[in-house]
Amino acid sequence: MAAKIIDGKAIAAEIREELGRELAELKAQGIEPGIATLLVGDDFGAKMYRGAVEKFCAEMGFGYREETHSSDLTEADVIKIVESLNADPKVSGILPLRPFPAHISDSAVINSISVDKDIDCFHPYNMGKLALGEPTFPPATPSACIELMERYLKAEGIDVKDGFEGAEICVVGHSNIVGKPVSFLALNRNATVTTSHVFTSMKGNLEKHTTTADYVIVAAGFPNLINAAQVKEGAVVIDVGINRVIVCPECSTYNRSKKDPCKNCSTDLAEAETKTVGDVNYDEVAAKAKAITPVPGGVGSVTNMMLAKNTLRAARLLAGA
Ligand code: NAP
Repeated sequence: MAAKIIDGKAIAAEIREELGRELAELKAQGIEPGIATLLVGDDFGAKMYRGAVEKFCAEMGFGYREETHSSDLTEADVIKIVESLNADPKVSGILPLRPFPAHISDSAVINSISVDKDIDCFHPYNMGKLALGEPTFPPATPSACIELMERYLKAEGIDVKDGFEGAEICVVGHSNIVGKPVSFLALNRNATVTTSHVFTSMKGNLEKHTTTADYVIVAAGFPNLINAAQVKEGAVVIDVGINRVIVCPECSTYNRSKKDPCKNCSTDLAEAETKTVGDVNYDEVAAKAKAITPVPGGVGSVTNMMLAKNTLRAARLLAGA
């Protein structure tokens, strides 16, 4: 039987409606949530993300403050800017857009952000609270994974608490951004969590863990890492990966560059199609799994809504409401 598609876009629309109601209530009390971005230098990805945050704030009805600066700022200058954002009552949440230039320490900047404005859980204090299972700002992408799982369980008529308790969850990837925090979030819900990573694969043990899992959460940044052989029949698969690939028109192999010939059949790729795919071989795994998130249209669609949720929480904290 084909897997149920866990539709991130539809779930994001649902959450957006819920948050819209919450936002209207806050605004009625005179509370205006707002986000500030802090960008130093001209990293392409960071600039793209800044633009996306500004657009997102306009769409959500949030205030927006932009702090974009050239890379000749000193670390002390950047920390002064953070302090002014910490003190600004119109800024509920601060997003440092990395990478910073090499002479500015990530942790020095992050450690200077008010823990009550740290809406994507970068500060070690909030990450510590997450590990302890205490209320905090759960980071957006890991929360999106959990939200998709919770809403899937509800839609299936399964009690969410019961769905997590004792469930075998295998997380693939142990980055500080996705793998570790999503492992904590699942562990805090009393799941049995196995966190695997590149060393698991190098020892040939990845399949051993993924094939016994009820839920597989994949965040490795490696297209087609998880195929049908790596999941058990009836598993639920959450694909966090976002990979831009060049698809060979002859053999459909995924390649990284149009400049080189196809790594499998040597076809010229100059005119080949570019596609966004996850870390999971969607067609193969969808034929075996019980449910799966697509890429695009899965985790990525819900991530912004989790950030919005944290922004509302931060705005309430700031207002003492
Ligand atoms: P990352 O920092 O590069 O971490 C990747 C993790 O995967 C590492 O822990 C790495 O292990 C592990 N890994 C790599 N190859 C592996 C293999 N062959 N077998 C097992 N584990 C392997 O990436 P990230 O920031 O966590 O992001 C992961 C993916 O999610 C990327 O595709 C990224 O674009 C995507 N992403 C999506 C969203 C969203 O909103 N949907 C947000 C953030 C990231 P080692 O550390 O041991 O090398």
